[in-house]
Amino acid sequence: MNEVKPNKKPLIFYWLIALAVLFLLNMLVFPSVLKNQVTEVDYGTFMSMTEDENIGTVMIGTDEITFTDKENANVYKTGNLNDPNLIENLYAAGATFSKVATEEMNPILYYLISLVLPIALMVLLSRYLSKKLTERMGNNPTIMQFGMGGGQKTGKVYVKSDTGIKFSDVAGEEEAKELLQEIVDYLHNPQKYSEIGANLPKGALLVGPPGTGKTLLAKAVAGEANVPFFSISGSEFVQMFVGMGAAKVRDLFSQAKEKAPCIVFIDEIDIIGKKRDGQIGGNDEREQTLNQLLTEMDGFDANNGVVILAATNRPESLDPALLRPGRFDRRIPVELPDLQGRIDILKVHGAKVKMSGNVDYAEIAKAAAGTSGAELANIINEAALRAVRQGRNKVQQQDLMESIEVVIAGYQKKNKILSDKEKLIVSYHEVGHALVAALQTQSAPVQKITIIPRTSGALGYTMQVEDGEHYLMSRTEIENRIATLTGGRAAEEIIFNEITTGASNDIEQATKLARAMVSRYGMTEKFGMVAMENVTNQYLGGDATLACSNETQTKIDDMVVSIVEKQHDKAVQLLKDNIGKLHEIAKYLYEHETITGDEFMEILYKKD
Ligand code: ADP
Ligand code: MG
Ligand code: ZN
Repeated sequence: MNEVKPNKKPLIFYWLIALAVLFLLNMLVFPSVLKNQVTEVDYGTFMSMTEDENIGTVMIGTDEITFTDKENANVYKTGNLNDPNLIENLYAAGATFSKVATEEMNPILYYLISLVLPIALMVLLSRYLSKKLTERMGNNPTIMQFGMGGGQKTGKVYVKSDTGIKFSDVAGEEEAKELLQEIVDYLHNPQKYSEIGANLPKGALLVGPPGTGKTLLAKAVAGEANVPFFSISGSEFVQMFVGMGAAKVRDLFSQAKEKAPCIVFIDEIDIIGKKRDGQIGGNDEREQTLNQLLTEMDGFDANNGVVILAATNRPESLDPALLRPGRFDRRIPVELPDLQGRIDILKVHGAKVKMSGNVDYAEIAKAAAGTSGAELANIINEAALRAVRQGRNKVQQQDLMESIEVVIAGYQKKNKILSDKEKLIVSYHEVGHALVAALQTQSAPVQKITIIPRTSGALGYTMQVEDGEHYLMSRTEIENRIATLTGGRAAEEIIFNEITTGASNDIEQATKLARAMVSRYGMTEKFGMVAMENVTNQYLGGDATLACSNETQTKIDDMVVSIVEKQHDKAVQLLKDNIGKLHEIAKYLYEHETITGDEFMEILYKKD
């Protein structure tokens, strides 16, 4: 996709031309227009012209005499000195007595021509120039600020080019592609739809977590559809000056209507589309912008070929008016990729770098559970960088495996060495987690554990095994998960009789799970199926707000504490029953700094 290239000539260049033109007008044109009229001369000149018989027509007024030369080319004027011989002399010189047609300008006209005309010209010229420029440069803020001309054009026009992004560049996300494909198809042959009486959805809203390819999908639609593509980000509407946002929306849509059929893409629409909260002194500017957007979306009928795509990762914060049918009537979920999706994304991006033959994308995809498309793209790139760093010209499997950890947990810290005591604690902590998990599920809980500090601050890193795709979690599974999370701290307690700060993240996650069991999943006998919390931020970490009385809140807190405590006790018991294995595996990890899932299971089930 190619944005129309801005013209590089600076604005000042055009202003200089404008000034030069004005200067020339003033020097050459105006003097002749204005002064060619009547020349005022002294009486002596009149007398000598009379003597030279160089008078054409003459008109004698009470105060002044107006006359022309013999050729009637110039008009002159002089005062009347009441010379008694005047008439006689003039007659002798052969002058004609008649009305001299003076074109003397009346003062208002003169004022108009000399002052108003240049200004008017200037304004017209600048309007024309800025219109020309905005057309050429697309959206250039310097022109906006210049502000002389109207016609501020806002949306960037993207024209299709050979390098355009296609649906094939977007891996996975089959459902989203299918829904968008229909829009593309409509833009190609609208009559197929209008014949049967179907209306194209006016707008489609792409929702999903960050980095899942929403922006990419919108660009692919533009690449496939072969129609003009206006792209603007929500933040571009937010301006210092009140009213500018609304003006931009108006402008964007008026341009789009001219270019129809076309696609308008509003990225990060939540910035302008937030719920209007009706607070006094609320954000007027944003509300005006939103109102304008709502009006514009109503303002064109469904079949004029303007399709609006928008993307957001905060759909719950959008104003309901924006989501009602007739505006964004189609909602397209763009979720984190599943295993097959991750494999496909790795393939798409892997094709851009040189891979050695042994690369197994499935293994990478399994190890990179829970990553987004953006992270997977980054993993490939990190792997390529690592290969270069090590002087190779092909990416190998180990580059990819290492870069998963880099992308998720940060680079290995080369100079941060754990003290022996710390290293021992981290070993027991990590093995504590893994052992509790393994004992509960009877399967390998981890792919790999390392105790090399990372730049993200993590002292160790555990690569979880993905236990297949699943969308439901049973109560037992959640409880086991909480037990696993407390396993690290439990191991520290048993072995060192001391606890450290290393468990803070585990504690946070365990608490979240336990709280959700009580307040969202209805997994307690006491409350049953009553929601005590509402999720407000589904795609950005899943924050929740409490929706219950203070008394209930206290009870919830008590229950959360008891759930976590119960699982912690379970973890302690499991570790105590298997303390021999705990020592053995932790020792192995301490010595090797790394243990794989297979090695782990081998030690665990080894008969001694
Ligand atoms: P967002 O959903 O936050 O708008 P983007 O569309 O900007 O995410 O994705 C960022 C980058 O991640 C893309 O440019 C692309 O390289 C990569 N990416 C994300 N999802 C996919 C996908 N499904 N297929 C291929 N690449 C993807
Ligand atoms: Mg985006
Ligand atoms: Zn831990």
